[in-house]
Amino acid sequence: MKVIKRDGTEVEFQKEKIAIAIEKAMKSSTGLYQEGVADAIAQEIEDFAAKLGRKMTIYGIEEQVYYKLIEHGNPATARAYENYKAVQEFKRRQNTTDEQVLGLLNLDNPEVMDENSNKNPAISSTQRDLIAGEISKDLARRKMLPTDLLQAHDSGAIHIHDMDYIIQPIFNCCLINLKDMLENGTVINGKLIESPKSFQVACTVTTQIIAQIASGQYGGQSINGVDRILAPFVRRSYDKHFRAALLEQTEIYGIEANEEAAESVAWSRTRKEVKDGIQTMQYQINTLMTSNGQAPFVTLCMYFAEDFAYAKEAALIQEEILNQRYVGIKNEAGIYITPAFPKLVYVLDEHNAKPDSPYYYLTKLAAKCTAKRMYPDYISAKRMRENYEGQVFAPMGCRAFLSPWKNEQGQYVSDGRFNMGVVTLNLPQIGILAEGDEDKFFAILDKRLDLVKRALMLRYELLAKVTSDASPIHWQYGAIARLGKGQSVVDLLKGGYATITMGYIGIYEATKLIRGVSHTDAEKGTDFALKIMKIMNEAVDSWKQETGLAFALYGTPAESLTNRFCSIDRARFGEIEGITDKGYYTNSYHVFVQENISVFDKFKFESQFQTLSKGGCISYAEIPNMTQNLDAVETMIRYIYDNISYAEFNTKSDYCHDCAFDGEIKVNEKTLQWECPNCGNSDRRRLNVTRRTCGYLGENFWNEGRTKEIKDRVLHI
Ligand SMILES: [Zn+2]
Repeated sequence: MKVIKRDGTEVEFQKEKIAIAIEKAMKSSTGLYQEGVADAIAQEIEDFAAKLGRKMTIYGIEEQVYYKLIEHGNPATARAYENYKAVQEFKRRQNTTDEQVLGLLNLDNPEVMDENSNKNPAISSTQRDLIAGEISKDLARRKMLPTDLLQAHDSGAIHIHDMDYIIQPIFNCCLINLKDMLENGTVINGKLIESPKSFQVACTVTTQIIAQIASGQYGGQSINGVDRILAPFVRRSYDKHFRAALLEQTEIYGIEANEEAAESVAWSRTRKEVKDGIQTMQYQINTLMTSNGQAPFVTLCMYFAEDFAYAKEAALIQEEILNQRYVGIKNEAGIYITPAFPKLVYVLDEHNAKPDSPYYYLTKLAAKCTAKRMYPDYISAKRMRENYEGQVFAPMGCRAFLSPWKNEQGQYVSDGRFNMGVVTLNLPQIGILAEGDEDKFFAILDKRLDLVKRALMLRYELLAKVTSDASPIHWQYGAIARLGKGQSVVDLLKGGYATITMGYIGIYEATKLIRGVSHTDAEKGTDFALKIMKIMNEAVDSWKQETGLAFALYGTPAESLTNRFCSIDRARFGEIEGITDKGYYTNSYHVFVQENISVFDKFKFESQFQTLSKGGCISYAEIPNMTQNLDAVETMIRYIYDNISYAEFNTKSDYCHDCAFDGEIKVNEKTLQWECPNCGNSDRRRLNVTRRTCGYLGENFWNEGRTKEIKDRVLHI
């Protein structure tokens, strides 16, 4: 029996193909999987074709599938099947990006323009990056992704992140091995950079390294212990200044060498150099524009052990970084504002977390800085050690965490490791489809987990083809590794060295849909939320066993995804009170933004989810202006040390160029535009608004859903 294809050619009739297409539609978009139905329909169509007495066309078969699905009482799958065909149709089209690109050029494509609050789409170099992104997405959609995965993405079942970068051989985020690069030298643009001989030069080289790395990847880069890594260079500078001071005494002033006096001179010159060096880094990072059309996403994590040989120098670096951040950076009007980068992370440990700890003065300074500038964020070394085999290390970018890994010598290694990519699961959609039925919820979840795994494996397979030539700074000159030219990177992807993560969004909404309450409801909600976490963890563990890749569970930042998933579900299922009518879903395991809960209860509650979200997590508290109440800020920070692994505070310090208002700029309820409360100015170009949108701060405004979410946030104090 023959079938006539779209192009007029003929192929053999294969009922298996029909069954496979139906199954994919069942699993990808609706999740309403019914055992045996696909085979039954395929059989019925074969019988029908046999009786027909003439050749069937592909279109005829597709029509039959649709009607049979309706007949079998599965209208949702019938629609999914139609969708599946529409996506395939799209993939056959030749040019699909014209409108998106033109929308960018004319600045009337808000979806793409506000997708990333760190990219300003009006700037032509950023436009170029966004246009490249649109073309990359289009190619990935038509040529690389299997139709059912693409359909799952389009229907909001899952989200394949960073599709604008998928066609290129680059990964997500990492902890760069800056120590190795500074101590053993590196190469930038084919030029040898030797180990710096002073702190000032080390800071300049570090900034150059950061810029180069940012252009070769799409996620964030972190320096795991910037104070620890740069401290030996402070010593080098000090020794240099000390020798110079001694020499000046005898040769210039003609007096007898006095070591004590030389030490004092050397130390004061060193302090000045540390100040200048940190300033160089802060200004350069904030003023750099990489080939991604944005400032590099850099995280500086500060942490040294009490018995560290360079503790004095490391403490000085921390002090300087915090002091300078507290001051801020001048905007174009010459007013000091809150810079978005680099993100700062401050690690709390026994030697700085208690009022009688020797380095508590640094924690006090951190508290003052947080109250004014939102950074630093805080890691509790004590709680982190419980979750990560006794290890303490920086998040990659804003919140991704590595899984502990040991080298052949049995030593734990963090620096030079990275994350391959993320695919996020839409939990509220499963909740909607399950219609309050808990068993159905977990049955659908099970099918969706397969989709996530397949999408992640695709990312791995693309990266596995990469050679070290794709980004020499990463693979050949120390940021990640020191491979030879042309060498494959595949060994670094395997065996747990690199992580690969499943994200999730909307634990709150899913619990609300199934149990009718928030997941903070200890009697009716929390156990369900924890069960979802447990099942997702079991899934990533089993994939890890099966593939040898370090799969991990990750609380997705969802900067614009919060809106995307919710909009798709609202279009498909209508306005559901408290779920799709909000315009956004709640990030990861977070407490719903409108829920009244104290900072302490929130951190305590969310801490149990951090333990179950080891591939990435961050908790925050929304606080008012507390610059006049630093004791309370310190109390909250000490609470973090005892109770939660990784947390941050959100506050507001905005600026209006028209009236010089320096306070909280709010969203107008009606227009959803940002508006100065003092003079009513709503011109984005004449407002500085900085908010925490994910683990980073954003300052170029947000999509409608995220704006609503920001507007809805209630204080936790
Ligand atoms: Zn104003």
